[in-house]
Amino acid sequence: MAKQKAKTRKDDLRTGTPFWVKTPHSTIAAQASLTQDRFDVIVVGAGISGALVAEALTRAGKSVLILDRRPPVRGSTPASTAMIQHEIDMPLTRLRKKIGKDHADRAWLRSVRAVADLVKLAQKQKLDCQMRPKPALYLAGNEMGARALAAEAKARTEIGLRAEYLKRADLIARYAMDRPAAIWSEDSASANPAQLTAGLLRAALSRGGRIVSPIEITDMAELASGITLATKKGEVLVADHAVFCTGYEYLPQMKTKSHHVTSTWALASEPISPLPAWMRDTIVWEAADPYLYFRTDETGRVIAGGEDEEASETNSDPKKLAKKAKIIASKLRDLTGVKIGKPVYTWSAPFSVTDDGLPVIDRVPGFERIFAVMGFGGNGITFSMIGAQIIAAAIAGKSDPDAEIFRYR
Ligand SMILES: Cc1cc2nc3c(=O)[nH]c(=O)nc-3n(C[C@H](O)[C@H](O)[C@H](O)COP(=O)(O)OP(=O)(O)OC[C@H]3O[C@@H](n4cnc5c(N)ncnc54)[C@H](O)[C@@H]3O)c2cc1C
Repeated sequence: MAKQKAKTRKDDLRTGTPFWVKTPHSTIAAQASLTQDRFDVIVVGAGISGALVAEALTRAGKSVLILDRRPPVRGSTPASTAMIQHEIDMPLTRLRKKIGKDHADRAWLRSVRAVADLVKLAQKQKLDCQMRPKPALYLAGNEMGARALAAEAKARTEIGLRAEYLKRADLIARYAMDRPAAIWSEDSASANPAQLTAGLLRAALSRGGRIVSPIEITDMAELASGITLATKKGEVLVADHAVFCTGYEYLPQMKTKSHHVTSTWALASEPISPLPAWMRDTIVWEAADPYLYFRTDETGRVIAGGEDEEASETNSDPKKLAKKAKIIASKLRDLTGVKIGKPVYTWSAPFSVTDDGLPVIDRVPGFERIFAVMGFGGNGITFSMIGAQIIAAAIAGKSDPDAEIFRYR
């Protein structure tokens, strides 16, 4: 029998108030206590990763129990700015050098498919979450200049991605933004991440899933016949499989040198009118460090973020939050000419990244029936979707052709 502690990291996952927690239907009611039933799968974590895993498993006919030590949808997920991108933080040209052409190309193609699948899922389930397909603009910055972006656009189109290289003059003409170059690409989206997650959890509950909160898992064990999880209060739960979807509060067993926690900042403005028409329909980010990124919601609210720092704790400093919000707003004004005034919501959070920009989706070392989904990076939500697909296949006894790309490493 394999038996280990399951003491996930503990973090202050948000400082300030993310806009999404103030929107309706952004959480769901949970049971306060456990039932004694045995489940096919226990999902630990009720954020976007846990919700997608639970949705996929209940759709496949599994009985699922979802647990969280916080209320549902109150971890990192509501801090997300929810630009649902197929673009991975590590450009394709660089990822090829790091992990080889085959895996890099497949990771990028899989991300495109995951965004399309997530948009379709939200439509099919009629999730009221402002899911909207949008193209993305990736602007030249101090990390990638015009020449590097031209090579990147070429590499992307060679593998069939819909990407267009824009020269300075094109960018000015179409977007009135002055940068040496940009890549315009199809196949991204934006949504309200809290409503999306709550909607997916609701779908899982409608198929017989259960959700219990607050409850904290502290130990795990595996027998030939299944797994057991023990709670902080000493209760023992039995299932065939478990999936840890605990976000940046990952299991210590999953820690490696290839990922670390940083700090990030974000804001939301009042609805702004008029906005340049393209801003309603496009998500934007920079190839820069520190970077700026932004999108809008259905009401014309601008949601922007960036200014990341390597340190994992600086995000909990409220003075720094006010300072960073000012910098983000003024960078946005300098780039687009849009003045957002004093942001109505500002927040900061820890943010996990990996060296290769890819998620970690795999069995927990030492276990056959216990999995972890760590959808790190700027497109964490897209990676959560890939995680749900890979884990649902593994639990069904099937193999996903791309699983090897995202393994524990
Ligand atoms: C400011 C910011 C902006 C971002 N912007 C984007 C973006 O634009 N696009 C994008 O795709 N991604 C973005 N991300 C990343 C994305 O938000 C994350 O990848 C995603 O929210 C992680 O979701 P999760 O479900 O894995 O984790 P969480 O939402 O944190 O859920 C994990 C849950 O597990 C619970 N838990 C932990 N340990 C235990 C335990 N032992 N027992 C019980 N419960 C436990 C926690 O309480 C928590 O609720 C952003 C992140 C931040 C912080």
